[in-house]
Amino acid sequence: MDFDNENRIVSPDLNEVDSDIEISLRPKTFSEYIGQEKAKENLKIYIDAAKSRGDVLDHVLLYGPPGLGKTTLAGIIANEMGVQMRVTSGPAIEKQGDLAALLTNLNDGDVLFIDEIHRLSRSVEEVLYPAMEDNALDIIIGKGPSARSIRLDLPRFTLVGATTRAGQLSAPLRDRFGVILRLEMYTPEELAQIVKRSAGILGIAADDEGALEIASRSRGTPRIANRLLKRSRDFAEVMGNGVITVDTAKIALGRMEIDELGLDLTDRLLLTSMIKNYNGGPVGLETIAATIGEEAVTIEDVYEPYLMQIGFLSKTPRGRIATAPAYAHLGIPYKANDDNGQQKLDL
Ligand code: ADP
Repeated sequence: MDFDNENRIVSPDLNEVDSDIEISLRPKTFSEYIGQEKAKENLKIYIDAAKSRGDVLDHVLLYGPPGLGKTTLAGIIANEMGVQMRVTSGPAIEKQGDLAALLTNLNDGDVLFIDEIHRLSRSVEEVLYPAMEDNALDIIIGKGPSARSIRLDLPRFTLVGATTRAGQLSAPLRDRFGVILRLEMYTPEELAQIVKRSAGILGIAADDEGALEIASRSRGTPRIANRLLKRSRDFAEVMGNGVITVDTAKIALGRMEIDELGLDLTDRLLLTSMIKNYNGGPVGLETIAATIGEEAVTIEDVYEPYLMQIGFLSKTPRGRIATAPAYAHLGIPYKANDDNGQQKLDL
């Protein structure tokens, strides 16, 4: 069985094989960006207002699970503002000097996109505060008693931060974002539109039902929808005339062991082991992680958001619980909780 998240077909994380194609599929304008109506509406207003004032856009924090379109949206913001975007990530900025170099190289009004912004170190964050607030960089010259601080002016810029974990952002950093937007998982209908759009760009033939079949198994995530589209094309070419219909999509996804709800072997293993080994919970994250041989952070960032979204898993103060619909999906009989919060089971 494959526990390696990088190679997992339904992983929302970017892998190397997909990164080239992903660039060609990335929407560049709001009109191409499907769904996320609330976030788009808000951003459009802020962008119009900033443009009419001749000002830069306020700093924007985007949060939500991986693969939902945070980087894409940052690019659209830059595009709509008519400025360049510089891309970096929290773990890539190791020292204060790395960030200082990035900031001083920006052009007036540019967007600086920092992915995984919750992973910035505290000392790097401290450089960011005056930069975000006053467009200034404080530099310490000298050491010991003779050390003094000088302030350099920076170009005006918009910081767009992206994070899968808004809760892990330090309060002083979070407070410096004027706009905070949460990206939602997509509906199957929205994902079907994304699949049709991507098929058009990649020259893949897919009918409406075929696109919807792929969409319904994509865990609410455009990155996964695009990946399943590409894999399904291979099956369609081998099995028929290359057109992705509902039948070819079903066979292709079945071969990839992705079920009707988009769960793969690992999701099913996670739920089954919670049910069989821990009576459905409550069970702690670390325990689940050890049982299925996966890292706790991966379970939290990658597997749980979707399982919670479809109501198969719930988080309680005492641990995770597999819900009745999860039992039903896996074909395991369910009995309601007893007084201890444990599910009694006839296995
Ligand atoms: P994140 O930064 O949240 O991990 P990305 O912005 O890299 O996600 O999006 C992953 C891919 O999904 C993009 O290459 C893009 O093709 C596609 N995508 C994301 N959001 C949308 C959308 N709203 N409409 C169309 N395609 C999208």
